[in-house]
Amino acid sequence: MTPPAVACSIDLDAPGKRIGHLRLSWSDNERAYGVIPVPVAVIRGGDGPTALVTAGVHGDEYEGLVIARKLLAEIAPADVPGRLIIMPGVNWPAVEARTRTSPIDHQNMNRAFPGHATSGPTAMIADFIERIILPQAHYAIDLHSGGTKSVFTPCGYVYGMGEPAFRARKLAAANAFGAPVSAVVMATSSGGSLSAACERHGVVMVATELGGGALFSRTAAEIGWNGTRNLLRHAGVLAGPSQPTQTNLYHTASAEAFVMAPIDGLFEAAAGLDAEVAAGEVAGQIWPMDDLSRAPVPIPFRAAGRVLCVRTMPMVRRGDYLCHTGHPITDQEFLGA
Ligand SMILES: [Zn+2]
Repeated sequence: MTPPAVACSIDLDAPGKRIGHLRLSWSDNERAYGVIPVPVAVIRGGDGPTALVTAGVHGDEYEGLVIARKLLAEIAPADVPGRLIIMPGVNWPAVEARTRTSPIDHQNMNRAFPGHATSGPTAMIADFIERIILPQAHYAIDLHSGGTKSVFTPCGYVYGMGEPAFRARKLAAANAFGAPVSAVVMATSSGGSLSAACERHGVVMVATELGGGALFSRTAAEIGWNGTRNLLRHAGVLAGPSQPTQTNLYHTASAEAFVMAPIDGLFEAAAGLDAEVAAGEVAGQIWPMDDLSRAPVPIPFRAAGRVLCVRTMPMVRRGDYLCHTGHPITDQEFLGA
């Protein structure tokens, strides 16, 4: 196989706690012979399972950055019967620039998997994670928020795919994370996400959406902090018993669940986060700003459910995302029973 064009500055296998970076060689007008240092750390206290905790897959989502940074500060090898690999700023150029995608290659890390060894920093980081880290991992927690453009109710995200036994392990992990809501994606159109990469490697993944709007939500961060540690205990990566927590599953990601702007204008939202809405109910209206004599255009929800995420920037273009809903599903439906 082609060796990754990314070298890791620390030994990820030996016992102990080490902090380093991926040395990603990259040459452009800014850095002729430079290295992009992508932060990575490992805490290993024993031969138990391995978990990967990631934040900064998108660079403008802040709760996860704090959680990953704090985990690294507070956990010692004696707390870890397994191995914890922490990447607190996965798409480092995006984190530095406070942007969703990389300012160097303009790629979205969560569409870049399985990556590529040479085609650009985002793909090169994805390639390293897909080929070097995930084959060694049993569990993964990918900490996201809504970013600059949207805000989520604090929730877990799990893929309702795979063999029943694998699904059952994912359901147990979502319950251990214990967010009040877990959004379920039953099929994915993109193999490019880190979640899809985890599916390929049989890694039990809980992704999260913890607030957003490029703000820091204390409530969402607490849910993420408690959930991350409880899931790591459940996984046998952190010492101590996990608390018996539970989540509520909401199926999302169907085309009907997403409300998009049919015209340009100013979106006046009618329903906030966590509202329970009916199909046909008005999600809001768009005021055309290019013709002040035109009446506002009402935008209906196409599916009943709970509002899981809303847009934060009211000026919209045709085709822009406005909000989306999820509808409750049972554990049996998630398990495919
Ligand atoms: Zn994200």
